[in-house]
Amino acid sequence: MSKQPLTIAIIGRPNVGKSTLFNRLVGKRLALVDDTPGVTRDRRMGVGKLADLRFDIIDTAGLEEGDSTSLAGRMRLQTEAALGGAHMVLFMIDARAGITPLDRHFASWLRVQKIPVILVANKAEGTRGTEGAYEAYALGLGDPVALSAEHAEGLGDLYSAIDETARLIGVDPRAVEQHTASDTDDAAEDLVEGDLDFEFEDDEADDDVIAFTEERPLRLAVIGRPNAGKSTLINYLVGEERLITGPEAGLTRDSISVDWDYGDIPVRLFDTAGLRRRSRVIEKLEKLSVADTLRAVRFAEIVVLMIDAERGVDKQDIKIASLVVEEGRALVIALNKWDQVEDRLAAQRGVNDILTRSLPQLKGVTTVPVSALTGQGIERLMPAVIDAYELWNSRIRTSEFNRWLAAVTESHPPPAVQGRATRMRYGAQIKARPPTFTIFTNHPAGVPDSYMRYLENEMRRDFGLAGVPLRLYLRASK
Ligand code: GDP
Ligand code: GDP
Repeated sequence: MSKQPLTIAIIGRPNVGKSTLFNRLVGKRLALVDDTPGVTRDRRMGVGKLADLRFDIIDTAGLEEGDSTSLAGRMRLQTEAALGGAHMVLFMIDARAGITPLDRHFASWLRVQKIPVILVANKAEGTRGTEGAYEAYALGLGDPVALSAEHAEGLGDLYSAIDETARLIGVDPRAVEQHTASDTDDAAEDLVEGDLDFEFEDDEADDDVIAFTEERPLRLAVIGRPNAGKSTLINYLVGEERLITGPEAGLTRDSISVDWDYGDIPVRLFDTAGLRRRSRVIEKLEKLSVADTLRAVRFAEIVVLMIDAERGVDKQDIKIASLVVEEGRALVIALNKWDQVEDRLAAQRGVNDILTRSLPQLKGVTTVPVSALTGQGIERLMPAVIDAYELWNSRIRTSEFNRWLAAVTESHPPPAVQGRATRMRYGAQIKARPPTFTIFTNHPAGVPDSYMRYLENEMRRDFGLAGVPLRLYLRASK
């Protein structure tokens, strides 16, 4: 492997977010220093850091300004300059704006250059952005990495893409000595550490950036309606002492979390009711706070929904479960107070039936009968949590997905529209957490919901994705 530092250039038309990504990878301090207004920037270079990857990074944004040639011409120059010194290119498009003629023009030029290109669809936070990223397939530059430079989403995918490409070209992105002032490194350090703290104001911010840092705890929330047994469970898991010391450890009343270790897995546990109630002993809230629940769900990667098996599922439980599905989090259901249940088979069936009838996405979700009070069954809860977390992180290879798509559409084709066959041409998983797929078809509007459910069910069955929220989108193929 080459001892030369890996060098990456970020290119793309103005305003797609190149500088934002540069700043995120390099660290804010350094980026600001170079951002002198009125000075024509050549190109900014910095030492980029993404988890354990180290690389030189070239931001070409400055080349767009103060030049009299056409935008396409400037972009060409920009890239040529960058290509001279880079091992690979991050070609960025704006997933919200969609593909512009300039992107297309530039992509076709890039395709014939002898440099690996990672296609990055930026501004892909939230569903709207994600859908926009699909168009990027049409550029013929491979699978786009859906990213939000601003909200630090999708950095895990970017990490994989850079790592893989570096491997292909034989440059080691890890072994290289830092060759710039430690200042830069600190800035990057701050950035990564900043991302480790969860912030509810910006709930999407730290979704992927820390997925691969070892010290990062698994974020788990225990939710459920009042009296389901959340505090009892958390006490059992964590131990009374730890829970009580939570608020004194500098935690605000509104962000109650507790760190503990499940074996060698660090877990950060978020509790919606227990501690809060403890701190206001007399005022016992019996009302479900949807806002609190939503906040806990957003905080979490994986959610344990506690249902009081003695009382069974009610509307509040469905409402809570639907929040989890909407937010696309991994879910495990704890059927609590199992010690009080007489007809256990009927209780378990009843719960599963009602849940999957109300929320088909939950078909096959793991339910673990427990007694938080006696500890019965709790040894099965955390393994189920880890399994669900892993499924939520699943990735299916594009080739495998397309083989599957061909098989399921052949055995049960979508209905024709006005005599014309509807074809599912190809598709791919565009992100994980939750697994999100897009399929290109000649007639998206003609595919009925029932067919989408068929695909979803088959996908769950064939890829073992039971109980995981899936996102499946259709796009028109050209
Ligand atoms: P550049 O010209 O390509 O360097 O683009 P900038 O980094 O200056 O970003 C252009 C605009 O897009 C700025 O207003 C950024 O705040 C915004 N932006 C950058 N990344 C994102 C993102 O991930 N999501 C959204 N919604 N906006 C972004
Ligand atoms: P939270 O409001 O969801 O935090 O619920 P709590 O943990 O405060 O529990 C509500 C009540 O249910 C308390 O009286 C607990 O002792 C009781 N409880 C919790 N778990 C169990 C259980 O597994 N079995 C039984 N029989 N009672 C339980």
